[in-house]
Amino acid sequence: MDLRNGLRPLGTTPDEFQRDLLSNLYYRRGTTVESASAQDAYETLALTVRDRLAERRARTAAAHYESNPRWVYYLSAEYLLGPQLEQNLLYSGTTELAPAALKTLGFSPEEVAALDVEPGLGNGGLGRLAACLLDSLATLDIPAVGYGIRYDLGIFKQEFDNGEQVERPDDWAFQGDPWEFPAPDDWQMVGFYGFLGPEGWVPGEVVHGEPSHLLIPGYGTETVNIVRLWRARAARASFDLRRFSAGQYAEAVEEAVRAENISKVLYPDDSTDMGRELRLKQQYFLVSCSLRDIVRRFRFRNADWDDFPAKTVIQLNDTHPTLAIPELMRLLVDEEKLEWEHAWSLVRRTFAYTCHTLLPEALETWPVDMLGRLLPRHLEIIYLINEALLAEVRSRFPGDLDRVRRMSLIQEEPQRRVRMANLAVTGTFAVNGVAELHSQLLTSTTFADFAALWPDRFTNVTNGVSPRRFVRLANPGLSTLITSGLGSDAWLRDLSLLSGLAPLADDPAFREQWRTERRHAKEALGLGDPGAMLDVMIKRFHEYKRQQLKLLHVITLYHRLRDNPERFGVPRTVLFGGKAAPAYYAAKSIIRLINAVAAAIEADPKAYGLLRVVFPPNYNVTLAEKIIPAADLSEQISMAGKEASGTGNMKLALNGALTIGTLDGANVEIRDRVGAGNFFLFGLDTPAAAALRASDYRPRTYYDSDDELRAALDAILSGAFGGVGQEVAHSLLDRDEYLTLADYRSYVDKQDEVAAAWEDQEHWTRMSILNTANSGFFSADRTVADYLSRIWHASPVRLS
Ligand SMILES: *Cc1c(COP(=O)(O)O)cnc(C)c1O
Repeated sequence: MDLRNGLRPLGTTPDEFQRDLLSNLYYRRGTTVESASAQDAYETLALTVRDRLAERRARTAAAHYESNPRWVYYLSAEYLLGPQLEQNLLYSGTTELAPAALKTLGFSPEEVAALDVEPGLGNGGLGRLAACLLDSLATLDIPAVGYGIRYDLGIFKQEFDNGEQVERPDDWAFQGDPWEFPAPDDWQMVGFYGFLGPEGWVPGEVVHGEPSHLLIPGYGTETVNIVRLWRARAARASFDLRRFSAGQYAEAVEEAVRAENISKVLYPDDSTDMGRELRLKQQYFLVSCSLRDIVRRFRFRNADWDDFPAKTVIQLNDTHPTLAIPELMRLLVDEEKLEWEHAWSLVRRTFAYTCHTLLPEALETWPVDMLGRLLPRHLEIIYLINEALLAEVRSRFPGDLDRVRRMSLIQEEPQRRVRMANLAVTGTFAVNGVAELHSQLLTSTTFADFAALWPDRFTNVTNGVSPRRFVRLANPGLSTLITSGLGSDAWLRDLSLLSGLAPLADDPAFREQWRTERRHAKEALGLGDPGAMLDVMIKRFHEYKRQQLKLLHVITLYHRLRDNPERFGVPRTVLFGGKAAPAYYAAKSIIRLINAVAAAIEADPKAYGLLRVVFPPNYNVTLAEKIIPAADLSEQISMAGKEASGTGNMKLALNGALTIGTLDGANVEIRDRVGAGNFFLFGLDTPAAAALRASDYRPRTYYDSDDELRAALDAILSGAFGGVGQEVAHSLLDRDEYLTLADYRSYVDKQDEVAAAWEDQEHWTRMSILNTANSGFFSADRTVADYLSRIWHASPVRLS
């Protein structure tokens, strides 16, 4: 049967769209035009747009079924998808139809659009990368499914109270999510705890994983893929009627609450191990549900396990889903009764692992005791994998006990813990870093022992971002100009075409138009004077990213203008955006100090028209899309050797911001491509920073010898900014783990060059255009193409 025959084609004319909208309002929303609220209109619009994607989805699924392709499965604990409405309008070709239809029904499109809440199911870069890769997979027609967790509460909402970060819950789906398709009948069962009996693992607790999916449309193609998100539910029998009848209401639902807690909240910290059992439960919950789903899908068209690695590649987005490796071993050995060696050979050819960090404290480990209690069979399997690994190490490096100790999946001191990164490297056929420098550092430091054992396993895939979301949707004005400059909008599917803009950098009329669009974006943002340079640092707060360095620069500028306002030079608005993990006190102190400095400058009439600091709260994808088009200067100032890649740096360069940065992460590649003359480089490089760290680093010597630095720190220490932030200054003077003071002078001097360059607007605009023209490499489409040729080896399936 041709599955497509039964589908009603959906209209593409204004009349048809309006008719569908009305019909959905009546039949699916169950209301009328007269009584419909804006929320009704929003949800009805979402359904009407979603239907158009769902029809393509049905055809995609049929084509995939028919071709029985090799699948890419992406496992990620986080997806920072961003707002859905605008994107789905664009991808379904209804951007013009929708507002017109809404208006004829009497609704304001702006009011309706404002109700679109972004699903904040991620922390930052790692979760946004996952979203960009899914977008590009669909755009390149690759059969792919993303798997994740449908957290009830996403990343917290940040507010400021007296300058201090306070966290509010993000109940993003409180009203329901009109974009998702729940499939409660497709549940999977997940076990925890229990014991190992003669028949194998007998779990002591069982929960259901209930899936729902969101549609992931490709751009400029018919393909629509999905991301499948799991939600934990109590197994139905867990309601205790006896207790309920006896008036013990809380006790009656205790088990249900415990089960549902598993998908209750996204952990708001992606860089350190929270050491919480619930997080480990989340990880296993994701892995167990997803693998069963993957196996179920494999079985639609295949019968022989030996075909599994040819039909399936499972990409682990960092170590959070690493339990998939022992879980697949368990399914194959315990449930499918395969021989251990046979199963291991399948597993080793199925998984690949992306590492996202260089911070040793961010390499995940779990206490052996906890893992053994929660997942006794998995711990046993990890021990068996470890035996084989260590046997291989011993035979390759006889007598090298230290190497055996370093490579073991089990850390012995100070506490026995399972090293998830080592497990991920051992159980996969490919391991990649996310920028050239990062991948080099992984094989020379973090995974040096593993690279010596299995050199061919390691590769690099430099991150990228979606040009649809971060240029076309975020910056429609500039996008139109780019399309007119290039004579076509083909760049949206092949971003390397941006290089065609390079000659236009020499065209004064085009430069004028470029400036006009950028000015419009600044006016639309509405923060600060549109004539001032907008200098932005937008990213999670972390000491290694060094917001504190930017802050010292701001204080220095403030001192200069107070001492000598006539000679201040270029007016600037400095914009900070970002959240700190709730328990990361040092980062929260920096936030509080930034807000205090902003207030002091705001209150000083001398600063008026010269310097302003703004810090809009709750940096997320929605806000990123507003700030990035308006930014003139992009701050990428992490201590060299700490930032794996960064993707904010790419978004900003693509939109024509100039970068001031260290040689860290993907900054290195951005500078190579846009040209050293169009990039403001400063600071220690990775070897120099590592050498200084390893020596007897004394931050106070920099304080003693640099008057401006001393003045900035003294101001903080003396309480000049509402008496807050002394702990920030103390920490810099006493320890300065990330070499802020060592890089201060180089940074401030480079900022003076930035200001001088800004004075020549023609030259600045030229550099801006060249940044965009030469950043086409940083498309996530190119990233996916690299994953395909280096790791995934999957082919497109196009709809006829
Ligand atoms: C791109 C993005 C990030 C990552 O920013 P980096 O500067 O690479 O750390 C974080 N959060 C949001 C909302 C983003 O859009």
